[in-house]
Amino acid sequence: MSNSTLSTTDRSNRTESTGSEADDEDAGGVLELDDVSKSYGTESVIADLSLSVEEGEILTLLGPSGCGKTTTLRLIAGLDRPDGGEVRLNGNVVSGGDTFRAPEERGVGVVFQEFALFPHLTAAENIAFGLKDLDEAARDERVADLLDLVGLETQGESYPDELSGGQQQRVALARSLAPEPAILLLDEPFSNLDVDLRVQMREEVRRILKATGVTAISVTHDQEEALSISDRVAVMSDGQLEQVGEPETVFQHPESRFVAGFLGYASFLPGFVTGDAVETELGSVSREQIHGLAPEYDRTRIDVLVRPDDLHATPGGRLDGDASTNGTVVGRRYLGPTILYEVELDDGTRLQCMHNHDAGIPMDARVRLTLSATHELSWFPADQRPADGEARGLNGDVVGHPDALGDDE
Ligand code: ADP
Ligand code: MG
Repeated sequence: MSNSTLSTTDRSNRTESTGSEADDEDAGGVLELDDVSKSYGTESVIADLSLSVEEGEILTLLGPSGCGKTTTLRLIAGLDRPDGGEVRLNGNVVSGGDTFRAPEERGVGVVFQEFALFPHLTAAENIAFGLKDLDEAARDERVADLLDLVGLETQGESYPDELSGGQQQRVALARSLAPEPAILLLDEPFSNLDVDLRVQMREEVRRILKATGVTAISVTHDQEEALSISDRVAVMSDGQLEQVGEPETVFQHPESRFVAGFLGYASFLPGFVTGDAVETELGSVSREQIHGLAPEYDRTRIDVLVRPDDLHATPGGRLDGDASTNGTVVGRRYLGPTILYEVELDDGTRLQCMHNHDAGIPMDARVRLTLSATHELSWFPADQRPADGEARGLNGDVVGHPDALGDDE
């Protein structure tokens, strides 16, 4: 529970909110969860979760394995009953108090990780499966439209085992869209696909969802997938929402260290706020560059969030003019197009920086690390550093200042 506990503190002690204040929580969306809770035995899996999803929106629940994403979808679909709180669809209570509507009464479509097509039915028959209410002509027309929508015009007569993974997923998607659900739930829909196909299909799925205008909630543990297919991302940890907002906002202005670390590589540069500037091991940073740094943080220690592309390492000796170095390369991860370096500054702070694959800086090299970011940087109060270090370096070590290892939390 440490993550959510800590980050709640992170937020409540800060006077200036950083981002998701405009989440229209009470605007009355297609789907609303109000203080929903769910336990299995004594284990609390979802705790007081509130969320509102707007018409036509694609919202992604993003969080580590076991944080409660699938449980949340099951509560929305009516496959599970919450212990407390309310679920409303189009303003009608479907779970809450004495009310509990069965899944088939909710108008919710679900696409699971296993596409679960009927193997003995063709693609067209699979899609037609949920269209019992229509007469034959209307059904055929709807199936043809859906095959067209998912780019399988010529594959209607194929059986699932004659289709590729991506094609099977299109059929599964068309099948769940066929009855025009009020809301579509997608649980890790890309996890059974090869990496290349996954990237291609998530763009395709976004296109299809937007073409139909359906409201959708997808679930993933893959931050890149969440950032690329969603209108809004809801970051989850330990059964609670950490932050809900547009992908850019959540990435650039994370409200907790957990969110910062979950949405990409995150290092924390310690600084001391002195009037117009924040003094750091990498020099003075203008206060204007620190996002929403409230006046009461004057003369206090903060940690500035730096992403690997915000930093640049120059090997000592190759510098013209001032050859002074301030750190040593202690980690190196080859990622193909780029190399992620970990640099330990002379005060013990560890920071990660990203370079082009041809950088060629060896391990143990002395470097001068500089802050090259020109955009606003997020920050967290240093007195709320996690005791157990949520940001891990290339060797599993804590990234940030060595004090982060202490128990002064
Ligand atoms: P996620 O989808 O984010 O990986 P889940 O919602 O599947 O997470 O599970 C959240 C937690 O609830 C896990 O600790 C899991 O073990 C537990 N859990 C889920 N379903 C059940 C169940 N039917 N009975 C007991 N525990 C469950
Ligand atoms: Mg799951």
